[in-house]
Amino acid sequence: MAIQSIRLFGDPVLRTPAAPVVDFDKELRKLVKDLTDTMMDAPGAGLAAPQIGVGLRVFTYYVDDQLGHLINPDLDLSSELDEEGEEGCLSFPGLSFPTPRAIRAVAKGFNMHGEPVTLEGTDLMARCFQHETDHLDGILFIDRMDPKQRKLAMKAVREAEWSGLSAPVIKVSPHATGGKAL
Ligand SMILES: [Zn+2]
Repeated sequence: MAIQSIRLFGDPVLRTPAAPVVDFDKELRKLVKDLTDTMMDAPGAGLAAPQIGVGLRVFTYYVDDQLGHLINPDLDLSSELDEEGEEGCLSFPGLSFPTPRAIRAVAKGFNMHGEPVTLEGTDLMARCFQHETDHLDGILFIDRMDPKQRKLAMKAVREAEWSGLSAPVIKVSPHATGGKAL
């Protein structure tokens, strides 16, 4: 197991477009394993490499008991939308909001061995493919909400206990003075 820490909203890596994978090597297989372990531990329905600080176009998913990964994804979306479906993000812990998404998605890409893969998803699976592929472009689910919903979401983000924690936190030991009050 190699569980990585998940980057929170506010971390610039989440706004940085990821680079396509060129080398389908051992390092890539380790990245897929780290993403899978971190996603399952969270637990989450999907996780993209930038969320663990890696700028490569890779994501994992675990939806409807189907576990998988996709590299260098390219999406083809239905014009039919699900406007009301709730969506969350591991980089926004504890929060979920209605986020419009296409109901169906066909995702083409590669597996970790460099073999071409085509995945088809509806509903939650389609939502997951869109959410994770967005992460690879530096796009977050708040960007997909209508302006009114985004405003509500940003208010909840500012009030969340983790808000601002992506900046380095200096921890001071409560026993630094030997337990004596100063
Ligand atoms: Zn996310």
